Amino acid sequence: MTIDEIKSSSQAIKIYSTRLKLRKDNGSGYAAVCPWHNDKNPSLKISLKDGKWLFQCFAGCGAGSVIDFVSKFCSVSVHEAVQIIEKELSWQTEKSEVEKTFRSVASSEPKKTITLEQYSVCETALKNSPEGIKFLESRGITYETASRLHLGYRERLDFDTASESTGWIALPSIRDGRIVGIEYRSIVGKVFKRQPGMGTFLFNATTIDPLDPVFVTEGGFDAAILEQNGFRAVSIPNASTNITPEMKDVLKEASFIILAGDNDSVGQSAMMKLWAELGENTYFLKWPDGMKDANEAAQKYKNETFKGLVIGLVEHARMQPMLNFFSLTEQMASGDKLRLEDHPHRWHCPIPSVDNMIRVLPGGLIGITATNTGMGKTTFAMNCEIYEARKYGEVVINYSGELTPDEYSNIVAAHVLQKDRTQLQMLDYKLAAKKLGDIRFYTGYNPDLSTITPVLDLIEKAIKRFGATRVILDHIHYFCLNENNPVEAMASAQQRIKSMCQKYGVIFIELAQPRKAVQNLKGKMLHVTDIKGSEAVVSTSDAFLSIHREVAKLRDPNHPPKDPYDEDAIIQLLKGRSLGNGGSFTKLKCWGERASFAELSSISESEQPGEKRFDEVL
Ligand SMILES: [Zn+2]
Repeated sequence: MTIDEIKSSSQAIKIYSTRLKLRKDNGSGYAAVCPWHNDKNPSLKISLKDGKWLFQCFAGCGAGSVIDFVSKFCSVSVHEAVQIIEKELSWQTEKSEVEKTFRSVASSEPKKTITLEQYSVCETALKNSPEGIKFLESRGITYETASRLHLGYRERLDFDTASESTGWIALPSIRDGRIVGIEYRSIVGKVFKRQPGMGTFLFNATTIDPLDPVFVTEGGFDAAILEQNGFRAVSIPNASTNITPEMKDVLKEASFIILAGDNDSVGQSAMMKLWAELGENTYFLKWPDGMKDANEAAQKYKNETFKGLVIGLVEHARMQPMLNFFSLTEQMASGDKLRLEDHPHRWHCPIPSVDNMIRVLPGGLIGITATNTGMGKTTFAMNCEIYEARKYGEVVINYSGELTPDEYSNIVAAHVLQKDRTQLQMLDYKLAAKKLGDIRFYTGYNPDLSTITPVLDLIEKAIKRFGATRVILDHIHYFCLNENNPVEAMASAQQRIKSMCQKYGVIFIELAQPRKAVQNLKGKMLHVTDIKGSEAVVSTSDAFLSIHREVAKLRDPNHPPKDPYDEDAIIQLLKGRSLGNGGSFTKLKCWGERASFAELSSISESEQPGEKRFDEVL
């Protein structure tokens, strides 16, 4: 974070407010009692000048930027003040670090937005709809609250020809003064629709204020009930959406965050994941037993009692340390009697025979190795995770020690378009990114980091920022071999990776090298003890796969093979804590040029590998 960014950040108000009792002054400014003279009035003013939040004591104690303020308040140098602020605004610092290193492999279309004026027809419609107002009142929401939060009404949804003219409440998301998304809730059933072509954002985000806490609920009506009772509350689209970095940035502007989702296992586990990602200044509120959400609590208690209940629950929440995500999901999985293969976020492989080998749940660690370099570990992991991002909406981060984002984009594009990677044109990259659309898959590379600890620090920041559910580290030995004691570095890295898996509920895919000696043993398959530093790597992982290919044979002197290895590949299960229904090894085709692996049985004699496999799957 640069000094100018600190001075102009809306977060500057948070820095002032942790040291002063701020109150809103006329307009956009703030006032406080001056800490440096015997002040009876609020003589200290904080106002926005040329985009920077400046302070000034009108009795003459001092004036300047937020950095000058901290320097004077803490009696430290300007340099030390910057360090103090950076620590307090760690979310912002992490943001710039992660954005410098990671980039998305996809490109999403710009979303449509509309003006508040264009939207106001919906608000007028609610005003004139007794059914709409009656429905909201049945949920305990007054028209006054609805109108303050810009709720609207539509008789029928023109984009949804199947919908009857039953009446829909509109819940808009507003950002920078424009409507960026609208959710509709039917007044006759629990049916939700979203306005097509528009984006997804927090509902009621404009309520967020640096001087007040913000509640995060799982539905617009829960947020409305809290607002009606004098709290500030926003709602996330729903429990199963991964909230975006932009949503997190907005939440982080509040003085602190209270996660107040639904009291069911889906809601609780979504909030738990968000808790781990948002980190400091975030608390987890649990509604009392027998109450599903804010709405139910408000219906049981009335007005003042409800307010008292919420204040008590917040006090309780603020005393609770962060729970381990994994222990909670484990508990839930056992309570719900969910079969491992049915878990919606278990690891999925696009190749059925591999998918059938292992069952790994969120919080798990998968190792992938190969008998030699160049056999396709990176490609195999990429194939799996592009599939999971597209089909299951998993949020993937890939950190590579060797491949630059351009090189990584090359194999992604070859795979997605099923084209020869050496023949790709500029337009192909754009086409591939467009084909990937809205998927959330970020790839990172930083040649300045050569040891494992700073790499894992950065990965952890990226997990928090992107809300990642899958992480690929390519590859662990690359970073550990530069340490003074590689074996020790390996062991402590494994422990750290395992605890990250559990803290954030991610599945970590770690690529690993075999021992050097094995590389000379042509044709010999790997044994689990052949992985470098195998003890730590294998014992912490839930599953371990290895890839083996023979050296390519020269069959036709006029067409020498492009790939040093044969296209036949064997995937072998070296270790699996929870096994699937399949065998422990399978034979695949690897088409290096197209950066693709495919099931052998799915390819007929005449076909090239990878020809139809991926279109079938996606
Ligand atoms: Zn003063």
